[in-house]
Amino acid sequence: MNTPYEPSRALTAKLARKILPYRARNEIRFHIDRPIVSFTFDDFPRSAITNGSDLLETLDWRATFYVASGLMGTHNHHGEQFNAHNITDLRERGHEIAGHTFSHSDCDQMGITKTLAEIERNTSALEAMGHTLPIEHFAYPFGAANACLKQALQNQFKTVRGIVPGVHRNKADLNGLYSTPIFSGEKLQHALAQIEGLKTSHGWLTLFTHDIRENPSEWGCTPEEFKRIVNAVQATGALVLPIGEALQHLEKHRI
Ligand SMILES: [Zn+2]
Repeated sequence: MNTPYEPSRALTAKLARKILPYRARNEIRFHIDRPIVSFTFDDFPRSAITNGSDLLETLDWRATFYVASGLMGTHNHHGEQFNAHNITDLRERGHEIAGHTFSHSDCDQMGITKTLAEIERNTSALEAMGHTLPIEHFAYPFGAANACLKQALQNQFKTVRGIVPGVHRNKADLNGLYSTPIFSGEKLQHALAQIEGLKTSHGWLTLFTHDIRENPSEWGCTPEEFKRIVNAVQATGALVLPIGEALQHLEKHRI
C-alpha cells in the first residue's frame, strides 16, 4: 500500500498553519449554559459506522460524516471505505452528510479553482448516490487551507472545519472550526482532558477520527478508546449534536 500523503512539515508551512486561525475569520459569538459536543468522521472508513456511529446511536446521538466520494468502495490505510448505501442509510438514521474534496486532495496545494471543481464533483457524486440534500458543511482534507480558500469557501458552506484541536468558548470561526482528534495513544489523553474541561467551562467541542478498529492507523483509534471518549462525553452532560444542529443551537444563543 502507498505511503499516505501528508502536508509539508517545513517550518514555513508550519508557521502558516499556526497563523491561519487568525485570518479570514467568520466569527460567531455565543453564550451557552450546557456544553455541546459534535462527533465527526472524515473520508470515511466503514469502521466509523460499525464501531463509531452505531455506538452513538445507542445513546440517541448523531454524527457528521465528511465524505470524499472518490474513496467510495476503495481500501486504504484506514481500511475498507464506505459504499453508496452507507450514505443514504446514515442520512435516514439522522446523521449528517457533509463535504470533503472528491479525491481527498490538499486544497492548499490545489488553489481555489481546482478546489471548487473538486467540491462540485464531490457534491455531484453524492447526488448520484441518492443524497440530494444540500451539502452545507465542509472539512479540509489534512486540514490544509489558506486565507484565500477560507474566504472563498465562506460563500459555499455554513461551516468549514479544520484539524486544529481546541474548544470553542464563547466564539467560533465558522471558516475554520477547531476539531480535536480521537487518535490512539498519547493524543487520546488530550481529547479526554478537553472533554473533562467542558464540565467547568462550557464550550463547543468538535471531535474527529477515521478508522475505529483493533490496530488502527495513526489517524484512528481502537473501539475501546472510542468507548472511553463516548463515556467521558456522557459524563459531562453535554448536548451531542451534528455540526449543522450545533450551529443552529449556537445561533439561538448568540451574544
Ligand atoms: Zn480526510
